Amino acid sequence: FQKLRSGLTKTSSRLSDGITGIFTKKKLDATTLEDLEDLLIQADLGVDTAMRITDTLSKGRYEKGIAPEDVRRVLAEEVERVLAPVAQTLELNASARPHVILVVGVNGAGKTTTIGKLAAKFAADGKKVMLAAGDTFRAAAIDQLKIWGERTGSPVIARDVGADSSGLAYDALKAAREGQYDVLIVDTAGRLQNKQALMDELVKVVRVLRKLDPDAPHDVTLVLDATTGQNAMQQVEVFRERAGVTALIMTKLDGTARGGILVSIASKFAIPVYAIGVGEGVEDLQPFDAAQFAKAIAS
Ligand code: GDP
Repeated sequence: FQKLRSGLTKTSSRLSDGITGIFTKKKLDATTLEDLEDLLIQADLGVDTAMRITDTLSKGRYEKGIAPEDVRRVLAEEVERVLAPVAQTLELNASARPHVILVVGVNGAGKTTTIGKLAAKFAADGKKVMLAAGDTFRAAAIDQLKIWGERTGSPVIARDVGADSSGLAYDALKAAREGQYDVLIVDTAGRLQNKQALMDELVKVVRVLRKLDPDAPHDVTLVLDATTGQNAMQQVEVFRERAGVTALIMTKLDGTARGGILVSIASKFAIPVYAIGVGEGVEDLQPFDAAQFAKAIAS
């Protein structure tokens, strides 16, 4: 929890300092409630959640005055309520060999790093992991995945820059089946300059994987960069509609005061959240726990 808490310091200080500023020696009235609502919306928690929090407070019994701690408690309760249904664990389907995880997201979101961290986690659990360097547009992404492969002892299926990513995904799944791997994690391109081509490519990767296993990919995990704030909402919309996203991982929560965006996304899309990134190290990809997240941002 300490790691999570320190990772979320920027978000929690903004909320906490804001709440202290609004409610120290002040009453709960229309003005302070409006100030609170503004604070919560600016912290990207979303209008719905912000309004529910002020609503709950306005119905509370605070005739004798309200302390910043009271507000933080209501904030934590409401955030946990929104996040609890989406907090899920990435469970490998035991009958799938391999369980295929397709990782999608825009360039720079943290896809490759997250794949490396996931590979490290599965390898530590004794799973046989294979990686596929499906971002065939960027030499750096291929090289970076190879480094993670070496670090985690996982073979990496890669081709040269410019190669067809669906062909590569097919070969990777074939090899993973033959080698009885438990999990295959497929990286993908994330260039948004040509959204249509990117989405077509992702659709094709999925189609080709299904030729070998009708249930593949078992997960389509969208990696989102928390520092992009509201932009992340649009990314969920686009990738969910076009690439059939089944779950999210949000990275770089340590780099932003806008960690509330995860609450907005959960409230709007109800997509499972598997994990969050609060730093660059392997141990910084944490399973997502709603109660702890709520406690961390409201403290
Ligand atoms: P990709 O283009 O989506 O594959 O993104 P990368 O995996 O290359 O990540 C882009 C940058 O973000 C790298 O410098 C990573 O180290 C960094 N990064 C990824 N996740 C996190 C995180 O949770 N916190 C921080 N601070 N940096 C991260």
